Amino acid sequence: MALLVQKYGGTSVGNLERIQRVADLIVETRRAGHQVVVVLSAMSGETDRLWQLAHEITPYPDPRELDVLLSSGERVTIALLAMALRGRGVAARSFTGRQVGIVTDSTHTKARIAKVMTGPLQEALRKGVIPVVAGFQGINEQADVTTLGRGGSDLTAVALAAALKADRCVIFTDVDGVYTADPHIVPAARRIAKLSYEEMLELASLGAKVLQARSVEFAAKYGVPVQVRSSFCEGEGTLVTHEDAEMERALVSGVTGDRNQAKITVVGVPDRPGIAAKLFGAVADAAILVDMIIQNVSQEALTDISFTVPRNDLPRAMELVQQVAREIEAQAVEVKEDIAKVSLVGVGMRSHSGVASRMFQTLYQESINIMMISTSEIKISCVLEEKDLDQAIRALHKAFHLEENTSS
Ligand code: ASP
Ligand code: MG
Repeated sequence: MALLVQKYGGTSVGNLERIQRVADLIVETRRAGHQVVVVLSAMSGETDRLWQLAHEITPYPDPRELDVLLSSGERVTIALLAMALRGRGVAARSFTGRQVGIVTDSTHTKARIAKVMTGPLQEALRKGVIPVVAGFQGINEQADVTTLGRGGSDLTAVALAAALKADRCVIFTDVDGVYTADPHIVPAARRIAKLSYEEMLELASLGAKVLQARSVEFAAKYGVPVQVRSSFCEGEGTLVTHEDAEMERALVSGVTGDRNQAKITVVGVPDRPGIAAKLFGAVADAAILVDMIIQNVSQEALTDISFTVPRNDLPRAMELVQQVAREIEAQAVEVKEDIAKVSLVGVGMRSHSGVASRMFQTLYQESINIMMISTSEIKISCVLEEKDLDQAIRALHKAFHLEENTSS
């Protein structure tokens, strides 16, 4: 008998029929002799709808009230699923974040988990009751509702699995695992059977939307094995776990694209100490993630600094950058929005050289211009024109023989 935490995403509970199907899957898991703790998302589109409502009523909704609103979507699904299970004669009970005791800090809409009580869930399990837990939510020390950032139900599931020392955290979604590339772009893309936490973290941060990046960080920290699989079909999906020798053999595990990118260039910046600190300090204070940075060789004591930010943070970033640019007497600030980032990820890069040169060669053969490059131990990313992104992904997938990867 294993203890499993099963998380079902928004599309898996998107309507009543699907909720009934999830109830069947849970009953099956129980019949197979396992104990289950269920974590649910809101119905797909619901959190967006609530977000929209809040921003229609006022441009800057109060964060505390926003969290009260956003967390309500998960209340709907947990209650409905608990009813569906009870309708099948199975003992089940819904739990809000507060009822479990998921305690977070007070950063509304992006709260971090401080501790997870296990008592209430363990008691339910002892009595043979299936706990159905609302994902994405917790409470702070003042008992105000908080939410864990978009996609935060994954984090709830991983955190519960860690706290309960579950054998596995299973993330049920609408795809049957993590792929070597987006199958909509590369039809020959393959499911990856096994991935390391680090690779998954890179892929998740790079825009592969199957798992929330913070949940992967959490899983790595506590060593929770995470299985990503489909609630719509059978299959083993992808197992995310500690790196092993088998993984190292694969040079590149996946190629991914990210369109949520914009480039800002500050032109004619005085080349003296403290300028970069000032510029990026202002952006960081606004919690905007700067990804790539390039500073040109200075000419006549002036230099250009280019960097990328998520496109949806661009308006705020521009405000800040323009202000700093005036203060430091830079000549101009330029923006380019139609850019994208293509990245290769794989733990094999640690021990093999030549990935970067093969990547650049491939893009060159496709006549694709590279604007910026960044690397980490297990990743190489290039910024290019957005219009070239799909072509770049297809060409790289082929150049690294990802369709032949026989890891599954
Ligand atoms: N419902 C929340 C969202 O859409 C949390 C989740 O689904 O993981 O972001
Ligand atoms: Mg999700």
